[in-house]
Amino acid sequence: MRRTRIVATIGPSSDDDKTLLTLLQAGVNVCRLNYSHGEPEQKTELYQRIRELESKISRPTCILADLPGPKLRLGEFDGIHVLAMKKKVELHCGVEYMENASNKQLPVQYAGLSAELKKGDPVLLSDGLIRLKVLTSPGEPGGIVTCRIQDGGPISARKGINVPGTLVDLPAIGPKDELALQHALDSGADLIAVSYVRTAEDLQPAREAIMQRNLSTWVIAKIEHPMALDHLDEILANCDAVMVARGDLGVEIPLEEVPIAQQKIIDSALELGMPVIVATQMLETMTVNPRPTRAEVSDVSTAIRQGATGVMLSGETASGMYPVETVQTMARIAASTEQSLDSSELKPESATRFKSTRAVAHAGVELAKMADASRILVATERGNAPRLVSSYRPGIPVTAVTDNLATARRIQILSGVDCVIVEEYQRGSETMQNALALQLDSGNVQPGDKIVAISGSPKAISGLTSTARLYKISNSGEIVGTE
Ligand code: PGA
Ligand code: MN
Repeated sequence: MRRTRIVATIGPSSDDDKTLLTLLQAGVNVCRLNYSHGEPEQKTELYQRIRELESKISRPTCILADLPGPKLRLGEFDGIHVLAMKKKVELHCGVEYMENASNKQLPVQYAGLSAELKKGDPVLLSDGLIRLKVLTSPGEPGGIVTCRIQDGGPISARKGINVPGTLVDLPAIGPKDELALQHALDSGADLIAVSYVRTAEDLQPAREAIMQRNLSTWVIAKIEHPMALDHLDEILANCDAVMVARGDLGVEIPLEEVPIAQQKIIDSALELGMPVIVATQMLETMTVNPRPTRAEVSDVSTAIRQGATGVMLSGETASGMYPVETVQTMARIAASTEQSLDSSELKPESATRFKSTRAVAHAGVELAKMADASRILVATERGNAPRLVSSYRPGIPVTAVTDNLATARRIQILSGVDCVIVEEYQRGSETMQNALALQLDSGNVQPGDKIVAISGSPKAISGLTSTARLYKISNSGEIVGTE
């Protein structure tokens, strides 16, 4: 069984029912909906259609809502314009839509940009493919900035703008993010990704909105701004998972520093037992080709060997020509890489939260290894117990046991964890033995197997995680508790 989780961005190439189903069957664990594109309401029915596929794939689906964040973008205009090297282009700041946009003038939504830019500043468009240098800037909001085109290329509406080194004075959650966030929570998103996180404070609005609704949605911090690298510890202490967002990171810091940053972010996340996703351009050429480059195969494999618990596809599945083939390729690379990994060596040490759950998770994993158990069952209400069990990389399949559908969906992001949904009984041991019996029925557990069950007390699922117990399945298929 593949442990590494595959996150796939759903877009025009993949949002019909048939392709969605094929993608899930091919190995997509998490569907990412990118709120940078379209109006929030346009996604409502996509949530429903993804959920409807659960009965067909016999497992919960997991939906990641990715908020746009304070990313600067060009405004709306029609067509594609080709910017030519050495020519001039004007950026009209504070303009949402420009009817007569051309390769000489383009709209920029954010009015404040003309106040922040000064002569000589670099401006990058389209993930850094196009490079401009500021010639004149009015120094006040809502003005026209004139630039010299240093690297040209084609440009279309709503492409990203990066101004490296400039701390753009926008809140992490602006009005557009607020609408996206409310829509995502209303629609039942399982994970919320916050873009352009700079400090832990940027995570606060999303966390508060989740708390206000009494939800347990996990928050993913996207690391794509240089400031986030300086505040990594405080950011990680305030989120549930992290993404190495290499697309923007590679424009905001020198490209050659991205691999080192990637390793640093992965190491820090693993130390906290936190899922970590490596994103962007992993199988980029598969957007137009049925086979990846050898370098891309190596990139996916390297990320997993560095410790990434998830790998992400963006344009490859959202707008590419080969979404299914890309997922199949990624699944094969992951499975093959995992075979060569000694997964049991990693040990998360620093714990700021969930101390006792972590201690019991650790004990259960050690017990499973010592007893040569074939599976670990772990009862959970919100998903933290299986998250911590998974973070010890037991190298043994883990099955989460829960009575909560939202939890079952959310934990699809955890590496090497599947789940069963059960009823919770008064007695903890009864809940776990029932789950074990279900696993026997489904063939996940066989006569003769040893199983470690980690659970809470007094109740298995809703109680505080407290117990690790070894069960043996006799040759006749009876569940026997052992010491
Ligand atoms: P994005 O984030 O695709 O939303 O920009 C990922 C990245 O920047 O790598
Ligand atoms: Mn980004």
